[in-house]
Amino acid sequence: MPRELLFLPGPVSVAQPVTEALAQPLIDHRGPEFAGLLRRITEALRPLFGTRGDVIVLGSSGTGGLETAIANVLSPGDRVLSCGVGFFGDRFATIAENYGCAVERFETALGSSVDALALERRLRDDPRREIVGILLTHNETSTGVANDMAALAGVLREHGALTLVDSISGIGASDFRMDEWGYDAVVTASQKAFAAPPGVSMIALSERAWQRAANVRSSRFYFDLNAARTAARQGQMPWTPPIPILFALDAALQRYHAEGAPHAQARHARYAGAVRSALERMGFTMFSQVGAHSPTVVAASPPEDVEVGALLQRLRERYGVVLSGGQGTLARKIVRFGTMGDVGEKDILAAIAAMELALLETGARVVPGVGCAAAIEAFSGRVTSGVA
Ligand SMILES: *Cc1c(COP(=O)(O)O)cnc(C)c1O
Repeated sequence: MPRELLFLPGPVSVAQPVTEALAQPLIDHRGPEFAGLLRRITEALRPLFGTRGDVIVLGSSGTGGLETAIANVLSPGDRVLSCGVGFFGDRFATIAENYGCAVERFETALGSSVDALALERRLRDDPRREIVGILLTHNETSTGVANDMAALAGVLREHGALTLVDSISGIGASDFRMDEWGYDAVVTASQKAFAAPPGVSMIALSERAWQRAANVRSSRFYFDLNAARTAARQGQMPWTPPIPILFALDAALQRYHAEGAPHAQARHARYAGAVRSALERMGFTMFSQVGAHSPTVVAASPPEDVEVGALLQRLRERYGVVLSGGQGTLARKIVRFGTMGDVGEKDILAAIAAMELALLETGARVVPGVGCAAAIEAFSGRVTSGVA
């Protein structure tokens, strides 16, 4: 079977050497080889989180990392302001509610990023500092929106609440500076911008969050970060780790750093820019607002006469190009085109060409070649067609 091209917002296409790493013989997870593996992974992750502190690796998908952040930093009854901007922000808030936190939702229109001034006003309205925790999504994969984490950091620091960040589809594709910006708990996962298989999440805490973790009243066992940190300092994980996924993550992070973080970040932005202009030229409307576009996922509604489900099915079945639809209320309204993973410019061009064909076959009015031309213009920096 020919390889499908995944343009999902996770999991993503994984490079051959990373896939091959999965097949290495298993090792003793309490032995020196594993300690070396875990050390390499955490050293590779530290600059991407932007922290000098411990980065803890967990055997779970990203959501397990989010649960870990809540369970170790917040207690039942804590007042929490959730600044979600979509489906994954909602999930983070729901986890906090499940742990007994009193969650208030700071609303942002879908497609927009958090308005720093509006958030500042809300936080000024808390003179007694009753809000203990603030939940944020660095990059909201359901709406193709990125928050400006540097700009928000100033507002949040002034208030002083603990800040918990879902950067599952952010870190690796976007600059993140946990220590400098002063974020307290930051979570990411293996199957997004690092282009590794799913199954591992990673979390880092600030010094004051570690102090909280020693005293919070939330019950936890598997996801107890104190146990994880104690084990990590001995080169171990507390429970049996997903060793093959860690082999693959190690290989993926080596590839990532061989490319270099600034190049990898620029690559995601370049791909997203090309995809956005191609889709717009083909008659799509961007779902994310200007200024809030994500580098890792482009969310757009197709031209009016096009049915999302039929389009995605055709792309998958006829062309082996796999994109996502929307989640929840956006299910039939948008397509989501992920830019993460082991894909090159020619893969993006192939996907755009397949999109044009699928649109034409489903009866949409598209001028053949306009999407590809837009992507080529974006990649080459040259205008190849169109009116002056
Ligand atoms: C993918 C994603 C998640 C969910 O991660 P799982 O690994 O599926 O648990 C959460 N938040 C964001 C922003 C994501 O992109």
